[in-house]
Amino acid sequence: MAEKYVYYFGSGRADGNASQKQLLGGKGANLAEMTSLGIPVPPGFTISTEVCTHYYDNDKTYPSNLKAQIKAGIEKIESSLQKKFGDLKTPLLVSVRSGAAVSMPGMMDTVLNLGLNEDSVKGLIELTQNERFAYDSYRRFIQMFGNVVLCIDHHHFENILESLKKEKGAEFDTDLCAEDLKELIPKYKTAVKHKSGLDFPESPEEQLDRAIDAVFASWNNSRAITYRKLNSIPDGIGTAVNVQSMVYGNMGETSGTGVAFTRNPSNGEKKFFGEFLMNAQGEDVVAGIRTPLSIERLADIMPNAHKELLEISERLEKHYTDMQDLEFTIENGELFLLQTRNAKRTAFAAIRTAVEMVEEGLITKETALKRVDPHTLPSLLAKIFDQGEKNKAIDEGQVLARGLAAGPGAASGVISFSAEKTVEVSKSGKNTILVRVETSPEDIAGMHSSEGILTACGGMTSHAAVVARGMNRPCIVGCGDLEIDYAKKTAYFKNGDNTVELKEGDYISIDGFTGEVINANIKTIPSEIEQVYLEGSLKLEESTLAQQYQKIMSWASEYSKLKVRANADTAVDARTAVKYGATGIGLCRTEHMFFDDERILEMRKMIVASSTEKREGALANLLPFQRNDFKELFTEMQGFAVTIRLLDPPLHEFLPHDNEAITELAKELGEDVKAVTKVIEEQKEFNPMLGHRGCRLGVSYPEITAMQTRAILEAACELKREGIEVSPEIMVPLVGHYKELENQSNVIRETAAKVFEEKDVEVDFLLGTMIEVPRAAVTADEIAEYADFFSFGTNDLTQMGAGFSRDDAHSFLPHYVDLKIYGHNPFQVLDTKGVGRLIKTAIELGKGQKNSLKLGVCGEHGGDPESIAFCNKIGLDYVSCSPYRVPIAILAAAQAAIG
Ligand code: PEP
Ligand code: MG
Repeated sequence: MAEKYVYYFGSGRADGNASQKQLLGGKGANLAEMTSLGIPVPPGFTISTEVCTHYYDNDKTYPSNLKAQIKAGIEKIESSLQKKFGDLKTPLLVSVRSGAAVSMPGMMDTVLNLGLNEDSVKGLIELTQNERFAYDSYRRFIQMFGNVVLCIDHHHFENILESLKKEKGAEFDTDLCAEDLKELIPKYKTAVKHKSGLDFPESPEEQLDRAIDAVFASWNNSRAITYRKLNSIPDGIGTAVNVQSMVYGNMGETSGTGVAFTRNPSNGEKKFFGEFLMNAQGEDVVAGIRTPLSIERLADIMPNAHKELLEISERLEKHYTDMQDLEFTIENGELFLLQTRNAKRTAFAAIRTAVEMVEEGLITKETALKRVDPHTLPSLLAKIFDQGEKNKAIDEGQVLARGLAAGPGAASGVISFSAEKTVEVSKSGKNTILVRVETSPEDIAGMHSSEGILTACGGMTSHAAVVARGMNRPCIVGCGDLEIDYAKKTAYFKNGDNTVELKEGDYISIDGFTGEVINANIKTIPSEIEQVYLEGSLKLEESTLAQQYQKIMSWASEYSKLKVRANADTAVDARTAVKYGATGIGLCRTEHMFFDDERILEMRKMIVASSTEKREGALANLLPFQRNDFKELFTEMQGFAVTIRLLDPPLHEFLPHDNEAITELAKELGEDVKAVTKVIEEQKEFNPMLGHRGCRLGVSYPEITAMQTRAILEAACELKREGIEVSPEIMVPLVGHYKELENQSNVIRETAAKVFEEKDVEVDFLLGTMIEVPRAAVTADEIAEYADFFSFGTNDLTQMGAGFSRDDAHSFLPHYVDLKIYGHNPFQVLDTKGVGRLIKTAIELGKGQKNSLKLGVCGEHGGDPESIAFCNKIGLDYVSCSPYRVPIAILAAAQAAIG
């Protein structure tokens, strides 16, 4: 039997279902499911994603039996609706839309009203008794087909329209009558011929073939490629194409179209939410050209349709057990659903809906945990305005306008009127707000570079709003008092008789929680969560958000197998980490403790010391500082493990390089400037990353290792005596050969024995190593003999394993990612195939030698959800990341454990 490529849905039955998203795309699978549920869906069919894959794998050609299957699909729609393609009396018109497994709103192409030609336009008039509507649809179709299929720029059509309007004295499109619009048809067709060299196709079959072709081709347009890259969507999954009979929201005053959500996608409130436009087509709502009405108004205008829509929305939410985002059209009072999908939502809405749906008994805790995207958690911690500064600006009358609060968070920055400008300004290091009449998919890179987005037009579901929420950008849309003159690079905020003019480069602040646009550069401060967790300025009982966040985090801790520790060098960092749920410090980089004025001098003395005695003298001066640092850290961590790494960076990083500072140092040391300069010169290395750093320093200068060990263990002993629980782990960096670790281990253990004797108290401690040199990974069995734990330093392991300089590779790595040589920047997302294999090898060899080995990761990857999933899979005990990424890591660890 020939392979099936076309899946029909209509009249209560469908070939596909909701579980076939990979094959039918999200839109196609859900249209099939809704049809089977008996929900009113215009009949149609879905051409599977396999066809897209075939198309790209076979030089943009199609499977041989596809044409016949499409023909059969059209015949089914025809017989279901008693209409015919191209018919003089009852013509069938269809839409042709993309629909991948993962939603990519507005990124690919769509053709509406397909099937119109010189015959069927007459049929449409007969059918609708509305000549104006028929010619309006026809001219829109020629323009859309001309643009999408024949690549003719919109302005060629718009110029023709404008000159007709001028000729007829019409201000708006709606002032043109049927006869006027009819005049446009031959003019548009001439433009098509002129621009493409082709006659506009009359045959509906040919129109359909070409539109399907264009939609498959749009999978690889630059917008779609950029969107996939930003959202980590694989290029290979392809799009499906949905061919569906048209219904019209622009048939007059009992027609309309809109978008609705079963709950509020901004804050998660359980209240039917949405907006619509009467007498409009779907594209009008999304394009943001007219500001739509809120969905409650539909209850007044068309109560029956509103009631039915509400019932359907409740049914769909229960059926999918998730918040739904619906598209609907009402044609002459009759409701049709054109799409349902799981709604994109802010982190605020994700937390609230997840917790409330568990409480409603709709979903399990596991499902709730999977519903919150760890990548969005930073927006919960997104800044808000300093209330004092904001109030002052308000009192001074600086509120310029109010719009719809479409994306939460507060942002201030200079105005940029174009995506290009936004990218340029943000590259220069300045915060910038993208201010547009509306946004379109071409603006995606600018939106990404902005701190926030403000648009004059559009509703909560406009392109700007949807994309901003997806990117966690504060966003205000539908700001009706804002007018923009792009040519003059000026924004006009109109408030009664008063107009405020702002130029590109002027500061502006937007509050994405309230919709206020303010003429000031307002300071931003920590989020509600931070105020509860870190600052204590808000009580947990006072913040519903913090309570719900806490629930999610405590469920996550219940489910995760991996422990989450933090990379923290100071007591403040440690406190932040613990408050966010860290259960240990996985990496304390001790070198960061030497950079203040007093210590750096002792450090420098230690480095340039001309004898061991002198060096020991300087180290003795450093000891009390270090001991105190560790006491603070241990105290803060209340008995949780604290992994302290011995000095790692090359010594030259601590030395002065300008003459003045060198002279001052020589004076302090009572040494000759020349001699000091010579030592500094000797420390210089061509390749310091592979140089005299890590344990190599300790091997050369065991007194450094001894001093640090002493400081750690003296601190631990003193606290133990005070009754404070401590759990130190001493970590040796950059080991590549077991003899390095053996050497350092001897120094550490000898020092420990001395300290315990002097203090007359013993503290249990672990001694381990970082695995960050590939040689260490492949000889981990030998190394394990001397180690209680391995902590994978995936930053250096990536640098040395893949051979990319941590300092320089950023100049070409983005290109590597563009070319898909690497799927992601390997310094951000672990290269599981290569570097991951080194880790797996080290675990196998290490555990083979010593099964009790404790395993963790402390490179940047410890805070990245994808890398965390890998760490969970290979059985690590913990990941360690920066304090602010701890919540992300806890949630990602739970999701990895749930699977
Ligand atoms: C590492 O290399 O992954 C690591 C954590 O150490 P550092 O970043 O300090 O070199
Ligand atoms: Mg390292």
